[in-house]
Amino acid sequence: MAGRDPLFAGWGTGDARIVGLIGDPVAHSLSPLMHNSAFQALNIKWVYVPFHVRRNDLPEAVAGLRALGLRGVNVTIPHKSAIMPLLDELTPIAAAAGAVNTIVNDGGRLIGDNTDGIGFVRSLQQEAGFIPKDARVLLLGAGGAAQAIAVALARHGVRHIVIANRTVERGEKLAARVRQIGTKAQGVPLDEDVIKKVLADTDLLVQTTPAGMAGTSPEEEKSLPAPLQPHWLHERLVVADIVYTPLHTPLVKAALAKGCTIVPGWGMLLYQGVEAFERWVGAAAPVDVMRRRLKKALGDG
Ligand code: NAP
Repeated sequence: MAGRDPLFAGWGTGDARIVGLIGDPVAHSLSPLMHNSAFQALNIKWVYVPFHVRRNDLPEAVAGLRALGLRGVNVTIPHKSAIMPLLDELTPIAAAAGAVNTIVNDGGRLIGDNTDGIGFVRSLQQEAGFIPKDARVLLLGAGGAAQAIAVALARHGVRHIVIANRTVERGEKLAARVRQIGTKAQGVPLDEDVIKKVLADTDLLVQTTPAGMAGTSPEEEKSLPAPLQPHWLHERLVVADIVYTPLHTPLVKAALAKGCTIVPGWGMLLYQGVEAFERWVGAAAPVDVMRRRLKKALGDG
């Protein structure tokens, strides 16, 4: 049976490699589909496995991946910060983002990296032709995803970032972290007058709150992130809503109606995976294969 499945061709030989994902939950993840389709396309003996790891089991899981010689793993909720002290080294970007989403096992030395932010920037460039240098950015939200995005945008030379968050102190804290990189940044409340004014002078709007996400309350699923109004959007705006279920969130629908450029929400997921793949395998990822598989799983073509 295994011999007939190209995924397992060559398994049992010494050069088969395992990578994967650790988190809680992991069953919903699209990363195994994306990476395994890439390994098949390149005809290499690698496999990507989701590992369900509970909070209390994290130290043993890290010891296990070291002992078993896995080439690396992605890390997801709730372990992205908790895993940091368990690793041998952090890349500057993981340290600055305060989170690890990718571990590379370099001959027994576990290096914590973060490909979420660079993946987001790559999605801007590759999927919407947008170069962030000198851009004026409005970031909605200041959670884990927003932190990685803000740090990466700052490192790519945006002019400034306004961070609007429900908990204002959290937005201000992230703004301070961005300023340490040398980029102007300010935390502001989710206030109607403030957001309307900032949006008029914004090139890139990044939405990282759960607003519009399937499975939240029926009210939230239908609404734009408060207090945003559709008529405040303008056609010079590039809009990146990182919520990708549904594909067309209320914000994306409103932005399309205004003629804005849209960055697909799945772009960040795709390119954080591409970046992780390239760190593990040491070769260019087959991006088209990964994009096709991801879009198929999301019902987008
Ligand atoms: P998180 O760390 O929990 O942060 C959530 C953020 O949303 C916080 O800033 C929070 O504000 C804000 N928020 C939550 N509920 C809100 C509400 N009712 N009104 C206003 N603001 C609210 O989550 P995360 O990991 O950053 O993920 C955020 C979203 O991004 C999720 O929907 C996730 O699915 C999506 N995501 C997408 C990708 C991708 O690859 N496309 C990757 C990661 C995450 P407070 O600080 O006030 O709590």
